[in-house]
Amino acid sequence: MALGQRHIFLRFPACNLNCAYCDTPRDPCPTFCCWERTPGKRDFAFLPNPLTPDQIMATVNKWDLTLHHAFSLTGGEPLLYVDFLTRLIPLLTGTREGIYLETNGTLPEQLKRIISLVNIIAMDFKLPSSSCLPPFWEKHQQFLSVAQQKDVFVKIVVTENTTDAEIKQALKVIKAVKEVAVIIQPVTLPANRPGVSPARILAIQELALRELREVRIIPQVHKWLQQL
Ligand code: SF4
Repeated sequence: MALGQRHIFLRFPACNLNCAYCDTPRDPCPTFCCWERTPGKRDFAFLPNPLTPDQIMATVNKWDLTLHHAFSLTGGEPLLYVDFLTRLIPLLTGTREGIYLETNGTLPEQLKRIISLVNIIAMDFKLPSSSCLPPFWEKHQQFLSVAQQKDVFVKIVVTENTTDAEIKQALKVIKAVKEVAVIIQPVTLPANRPGVSPARILAIQELALRELREVRIIPQVHKWLQQL
C-alpha cells in the first residue's frame, strides 16, 4: 500500500468502464499529454501524443528515480494498453519498488500478459451503489486470482447508498481467492467533501473487519492535497 509514498505517475486516458464518480477524460487518444516539469508546481508542458516508450524514458529520467517508491501506472485503465505496456515496462527501472499498477480489476486476461512485469497491484472493486454500473463479482474474482501472485490490495469506493449486502458479497469474493488488505474509500464530493458520514464509514469498516485482518479507511489524498 503506497499512501504517502513518492511515485512517478504515468496516467493513461480512457477506460472500459464509466463509473458515476469518474474524473478521467474519455478521449482514448488525446492530441497532447501533460508533463508536470516540477513536482507539484503545475508547470505543465504539452507533449504530442502518443509518446514512444523511449520518449517516456527520456522524460522521466530527468528526475532522480532512486528517490521514488515506484512508477505508478494509472488511468483511466492502463490495461487497455497492454501491448504498449509490454514494451514500456521493461524500460521503467531505477525506482525503489518497481511497478505499481492501479486498475479497475475487470481485465484479467490483459493482466495475465504483464503480471510478471509488475510488483504491486492496487485493484479497484466496483460496487453498483457507487459506480452506478452492474456488478463485476465474477470478473473481480478472476482478476484477483491472477493478481494474487503479486503484492496486491483491494480498494472499495463507497457512498452513503452502499449496502451491507454489497460489502458482504465483495468480501466473499475476495476471501474466495486470498485474504488481502482492503481500503475503504469514501467517494469524494465537490469541494473535496467526503460523500459518506463518519458513522456509516465506520460501520462498513466494522463489517469488513469481521472477515479480514487489515481494513483501512483512506480518503482520496491527492484531491485533499489538490494534486491532480
Ligand atoms: S474505473 Fe476508474 S477510470 Fe474507469 S470509469 Fe471508473 S473511475 Fe473512471
